[in-house]
Amino acid sequence: MIGTLRVTKCRGCGADIVFIKSVAGKTIPCNAESISYVQKADGDLKIVTPNGEVISGNIPEDPQKATGIGYISHFATCPAADSFRKARKSDRKKVRE
Ligand SMILES: [Zn+2]
Repeated sequence: MIGTLRVTKCRGCGADIVFIKSVAGKTIPCNAESISYVQKADGDLKIVTPNGEVISGNIPEDPQKATGIGYISHFATCPAADSFRKARKSDRKKVRE
């Protein structure tokens, strides 16, 4: 699965990202660099596993405690994410400003 991921550049910030297809059928832009995570229901990060599952978790201080390897949703870290969100919102309905 990981072998089929193609690295591309974020249109917003130019970072390397990969698109991972979620089990729900959505394509999620993620940071190209994989991370070790600990799954946690109230974790700070949205992590997409290589299988396309979207989970919450944290990056453990001790890598030995990691429960898996995944990718962080790029929207969480992208400095241009706000402009994506605005663009998406105005697609659906007009926003009054
Ligand atoms: Zn970006």
